[in-house]
This record gives sequence, C-alpha cells and structure tokens, in this order.
Amino acid sequence: MRGLITGVPVTRRVVDRFVAGENLDQASAVLADLVGEGLTATVDRLGEDTLDASDAAATRDAYLAMLKRFAELGIAGRTEVSVKLSALGQKLPKDAAKITLENAVAIAEAARDAGTTMTLDMEDHTTVDATLGTLRDLRGEFPWVGVAIQAMLFRTEGDITDLATAGSRVRLVKGAYMEPASVAHQDKHEVDKAYVRAMGTLMRSSAYPMIGSHDQRMIDIAHKLVGETGREPDTYEFQMLHGIRATEQRALVAGGETVRVYVPFGDDWYGYFMRRLAERPANVMFFLNSLVKK
Ligand code: FAD
Repeated sequence: MRGLITGVPVTRRVVDRFVAGENLDQASAVLADLVGEGLTATVDRLGEDTLDASDAAATRDAYLAMLKRFAELGIAGRTEVSVKLSALGQKLPKDAAKITLENAVAIAEAARDAGTTMTLDMEDHTTVDATLGTLRDLRGEFPWVGVAIQAMLFRTEGDITDLATAGSRVRLVKGAYMEPASVAHQDKHEVDKAYVRAMGTLMRSSAYPMIGSHDQRMIDIAHKLVGETGREPDTYEFQMLHGIRATEQRALVAGGETVRVYVPFGDDWYGYFMRRLAERPANVMFFLNSLVKK
C-alpha cells in the first residue's frame, strides 16, 4: 500500500488536501493565510516512531527552526506546535524517556521564547503512560504544555479527571488509532458517548478544554456546556484538522469562537494520511477517483 500510494504522482493532489506542503516555506504560507483569516494554528512536523537518536535530534532541531520562523513572521502568538513524542525518541532502544524529555524541553523553551505554547499529540495506547509521564515532567517548568486525550480509550475517564486542573490545556479527541477491544470502545456510538462525558468533565472544571472534533453534534454539545457553565470565550477553544470542514472553522470564528487548525507538513506524510483515509470511507473514494481522473 505504501509503495502504491507514494509511487503515484497524482497522489500529491490528494495528500495536499490534508498536508500543508513538504517544507517550512510552504507551511508558513498556509499559516499566514489562516492567521490572516482570524484562525489560530498548531503545527505538526510529520514524522513518528523514530528508532534513531540522531533522527529524534533532527526533529527537535526542525521544531526549533519552525518556532524561530514563526516569531520572525510575527505569527507565533497565534501559532503553536504539536509534537509526537515517538518522533522525539519515545521508542528508542536506549535512554528513551531521558532523550525524549531533553528534546521536548528544548522545544518547550523555544516555544516559550517565541511567545507560544506546545501540545503533545497522543499516539497508540501503548504510549499513553509514557506521554503522560513526560507531560508531568514538562509541566513543572512549562505548565502551559497541552496534551491530546482520546475518548475511545477506557482509561480516559480517569486521565481526564486527573488532568482537569486549573488552566490545564487538554485537547479532547475521539482517537485515530486502531485499538484492541481490551483497551478501547469499538462501537462509534460508545466513543461518542465517552467523548461527551469527558467534555462535560473538562468544561465543568477549571481546565482549558480544546475540543478537537469535526462532529457537529460534539460542537453543539460544547456550545450547550459553555452556556450551562457560563464559560468565557477565552477559556476554551475548538480545534479541527487542516482540510476538514474549513467552512465550519470560519463560521465558528465569525461567531466569536477561538478555532485552532492542526496543520501538518513535511514529507513523512504516509501515517498521517492513512489515518485520515481510514476515518472516512469518502476519503478513500476521493483518493481512488483522483487515480482514475489524473
Ligand atoms: P467523526 O465522527 O470521525 O467525524 C465527524 C464528521 O467530521 C464526519 O462525518 C465528517 O464530516 C468529518 N470528518 C471526520 N474525519 C474526517 C476526515 N478524515 N476527512 C473528512 N471529513 C472528516 N487523534 C489522536 O489519536 N491523537 C491526536 O493527538 C489527535 N490530534 C488531533 C488534533 C485535532 C485538532 C483534531 C481535530 C483531531 C485529532 N485527532 C487525534 C484525530 C481524532 O482522534 C479523530 O480521529 C478525528 O478528529 C475524527 O473524529 P471526529 O471527532 O472529527 O468525528
């Protein structure tokens, strides 16, 4: 599948729907447009599961260069970074936790210097304990570091309760990884119910909820909870992925909401792209059609 997808030139058009270019120049142009339209962004340099410490260091350096560029462009105040810890060393055979933390601290320092924040993406369930451990270590010095939490995992109810503390930035998502029945809801309806429960816990707490969903029902329930709890607009935000429901992103901004677009860029787009295809059969059709049409 990887050979097929990466070998077909026309694929690029389809990938471009979800990925903001292969390099920082291309991504910066997308970000400047988003910020110009009143949106905010979180930027992911694509890559995951590195087994080599020098690759992890290269990822760290790429984030440092990105943050410097955002500051130079004057968009750092509205553009934070999203980081996958498996790209920073979480799966290294030796000293994984130590190297990951050192790399993450370097990025957090650069984010702070640029006047922005950083959020840890959540990967498959085997990584959750390690990611929450690194989050705890980071938050000692950088309390504004956010984390993504996946509603589909059974453990999430407890994690959300632990994380629902003052100012704690938590991005609530449904979960993009194929997980076994022993750890995660398999039924979409159960995932949605778990999402609503977790959203209620976050909204009723003093945390800073980041509602990461394109699901209109979740957005409507978030609005209802905002009304119920009397939350002010600057105490939560909506988040969506680049290329998905762009019109709704702008409509929310027009309604006075903060909307952060998750903007991935880079040439290592395969894993990210495949998760977007897997989420939605219509995307597979879009992809197959593009092969036929050329
Ligand atoms: P769904 O019920 O899947 O979709 C609702 C509607 O949204 C669909 O009917 C469709 O209209 C639209 N939609 C959803 N997905 C697509 C798509 N791929 N293409 C086109 N339309 C679509 N997951 C993680 O596991 N870890 C993370 O760190 C993480 N970070 C994320 C950050 C952000 C900002 C967002 C928005 C999502 C993130 N995700 C992450 C992905 C998330 O877990 C879901 O897989 C994804 O958001 C789809 O779920 P949904 O809530 O949009 O609802």
